[in-house]
Amino acid sequence: MKPVYNFVSEDSGLITKTVSGFIPETAVIPLKKNGQDDVEILVKAGDEVKEGQVIARSSDTCSHSSIPGKVENIIRSKFADGSEGYAAKIRLEGVFSFSGKKLLETRWQAKDVQNLLFRIREGGVLNTFSEPVPLNVQIKKLDRSSDRFLIVRLYSEDPSRITDDFVTDHYFEKIKTGIAVTAKAMEARGILLAFDSRKPLPDGLEKEFEQETACVSMDSRNYPNGFMHEIVSSAKKTFKNSNSVFSTLGNRDLFIDSVTALNVYNAVVLEKPEITVELHVTGDCLNAGAVMTLKTGTLLRDVVAQAGGFKRQPGKIIINGKITGNSISALDIPVSKEIKSVAFVPFSQLPDQKKQHCIRCGNCLKICPMNLSPEALYRCFTNMDFKDENLKLIEKTAALCTECSLCNSVCPSRLPLSQTIALLKKEKNDEK
Ligand code: SF4
Ligand code: SF4
Repeated sequence: MKPVYNFVSEDSGLITKTVSGFIPETAVIPLKKNGQDDVEILVKAGDEVKEGQVIARSSDTCSHSSIPGKVENIIRSKFADGSEGYAAKIRLEGVFSFSGKKLLETRWQAKDVQNLLFRIREGGVLNTFSEPVPLNVQIKKLDRSSDRFLIVRLYSEDPSRITDDFVTDHYFEKIKTGIAVTAKAMEARGILLAFDSRKPLPDGLEKEFEQETACVSMDSRNYPNGFMHEIVSSAKKTFKNSNSVFSTLGNRDLFIDSVTALNVYNAVVLEKPEITVELHVTGDCLNAGAVMTLKTGTLLRDVVAQAGGFKRQPGKIIINGKITGNSISALDIPVSKEIKSVAFVPFSQLPDQKKQHCIRCGNCLKICPMNLSPEALYRCFTNMDFKDENLKLIEKTAALCTECSLCNSVCPSRLPLSQTIALLKKEKNDEK
């Protein structure tokens, strides 16, 4: 494992409070991505919508209007994760149902498991621990034949963004309640809190939950140290000589992050759907960095304006962190529930982006924390360079990849190694 300090966000530590974003005059709310055939769009041009109204739904989740107004049109749009699909363009008018109102806490303790799951689904809560997925779907899929554990990462796994650290620091009481709600909804046997070793948790925290609770301290600056693999390994090491129930943790358990716990609190306790996003807006092209509370559907163009505009043109726009994120090329992309950060990086900070052939330098092999050979997996996938009988072995090997992206960061040929291995994993999962 290697420290990668040069990835650490330039403004971490400088940002001390959230800034409420302007209410956008027009919001572009993502409704349905290409391939999401089960999603039904519930509005059309000319419809009036309320703030928080469900405007698209599938059996798994729903999308809400983040502002009150009139649907101007249903348009084709690009989204922050690089996908494309349909979005509702909504012009602001009318009164707000949630914004500016004092929302009272409901008695979530009186709600049964079904009711909690219903509220999590109706609130449109996504679990953003890794690839975003509807939280209620993940909870329903958990194996009920054995004990289940809830593992909560309270820091950002990509040190170039601060969103999870930030919400942990600023909304800890709400996050604790979100954790308690999630643990009840999944009928968890225990809760493990993975926290940043630089910011110890308050004493006695373990006693605050109904379920057996323990903490593991993680060095978040030592990347990678926030994926499922590292947290499970650390728990196994911490509890190996005890009879602790936490020594049995594994990837069958439920992993969430601070942002997800906060959104569970909002959806269940305040009965407020996921219509805002805490977004770390950063990068040396901007006049100011901030963590902004933004309405979903706010265009990145408007986010830049709120950050004081550009002081120089960006060479790249990076979504969700410099190590694990992806880059996009346009500013007319809306803020959506999957985004935690956006960085506007100048040309001068970009390495040569031209993709070349593998020069067999071995850097990716040396850095891979899972001891994989990213170059070999990449070659197999792109050239289909393997015998059919080896396919299962290749897929099993690819399944061990944590998608930490370290291999990408050291590849002098700029090959998209982790993205390609992720495709290999996806093909395997799709076959199931
Ligand atoms: S993304 Fe996968 S293959 Fe690349 S370094 Fe990380 S674990 Fe290894
Ligand atoms: S780091 Fe890149 S160039 Fe070097 S061996 Fe790996 S894939 Fe090839």
